[in-house]
Amino acid sequence: MKTIQIGRTSVSVLSGDITAWSGDVIVNAANSGLLGGAGVDGAIHTVGGPEIMEQCKDIRKLQGGCPPGHAVMTCAGLLKAKHIIHTVGPIWEGGGGGEELTLAECYRSSLQLANEAGARSIAFPNISTGIYGYPKASACDIALKALTGYLKEDKPDNRLEKIDLICFDAENAELYIQRLDQYA
Ligand code: ADP
Repeated sequence: MKTIQIGRTSVSVLSGDITAWSGDVIVNAANSGLLGGAGVDGAIHTVGGPEIMEQCKDIRKLQGGCPPGHAVMTCAGLLKAKHIIHTVGPIWEGGGGGEELTLAECYRSSLQLANEAGARSIAFPNISTGIYGYPKASACDIALKALTGYLKEDKPDNRLEKIDLICFDAENAELYIQRLDQYA
């Protein structure tokens, strides 16, 4: 584990499975249909149970899903969190389709929604770096820049005390640990 502090918020890199994390908000790397999938999305629905999917379906009925870069919130079912924030990362298509902006927006919109819900702690997976194929080193820099940039704005409505970046694979863990200090 490695940690930096920005104002009131600590940002830590951890290795592990996000479904074992406990705190206020777990972020899911969902797809725009909100109907579940493989990877971390599958793990969250499997461990969290059917109540999360029921709420995803209600959101689908209301707004037809969730566009890339946006975020929506449900309960956390059986997980040890209060809420799940489902955000939809970009599918990597070579970088010319605005993927960088969309990925940064995932982190910002999730932080914004977490703050609107009064959260003090939040855990993120490495969005888009699995099935969506985003190059891991670039995705790491975008995530760290977006998160620390948000915190450095020192918004009066930011109540987050802890942001945990949960790296499931060794390559992401190594990248995040190497790069975290550059964003302090
Ligand atoms: P995407 O479609 O956004 O690429 P994936 O779930 O395929 O989403 O992958 C996103 C990241 O989540 C990958 O780095 C993958 O290693 C990681 N991941 C997969 N399962 C878990 C898990 N249980 N906890 C945390 N991270 C996970």
